[in-house]
Amino acid sequence: MTTITLTFDNGPDPDVTPMVLRTLRRHGTQATFFVIGEKLRDRRRLSEHARGEGHWIGNHTYTHLVPLGQSREGGVALREIEQTDTLLGDLAHPRQFFRPFGNGGNLGSGLLNREALRYLQASGHTCILWNAVPEDWVYPESWVERALDLCFANEHSLLVLHDLPTGAMTHLDTFLHRAKDRGATFVQEFPGDCIILESGRIVRDIQPYLSD
Ligand SMILES: [Zn+2]
Repeated sequence: MTTITLTFDNGPDPDVTPMVLRTLRRHGTQATFFVIGEKLRDRRRLSEHARGEGHWIGNHTYTHLVPLGQSREGGVALREIEQTDTLLGDLAHPRQFFRPFGNGGNLGSGLLNREALRYLQASGHTCILWNAVPEDWVYPESWVERALDLCFANEHSLLVLHDLPTGAMTHLDTFLHRAKDRGATFVQEFPGDCIILESGRIVRDIQPYLSD
């Protein structure tokens, strides 16, 4: 029996986010949208709409340019998280979800630096990683097969997709149908082993994700 949690990163996008919302509504499935602050600034309405439909909204940095652990300049990592927090305001889930930028889904030591970690702890964030990245942005026409393979290899998969204009999300409906046909259950809650901070408290070994 496989359980799948859906997340959509790097939006909101004026065309793709509404399409994803329509597909999720048809399937009665709730997800989390990890948004980029720079995009949220002028497109807050899209995220408000998502939250109104029961989806959770999380912080996915402000510019999404450099993994925070690779940032050497003081204050940069902090601003990347803080600016988006400010823009999110009451759109943020009470657990204050944050997902670091992994630059292609890499779960490595570049995800966070100490400055970012200190802020996330002090401000009570819940830091969410992932365990299934089908690279929908690289394979917009064939990611569904890859996603099914990845998801059914885990008991509980945390799937990373992107509400970006690559064409990939036109296949979201197919993915949901096929996963359900194979017996998958969709839940909004994240698998425990993908949570490294819960409301500011370190709940997993954080060292592998932290730069010096
Ligand atoms: Zn991203």
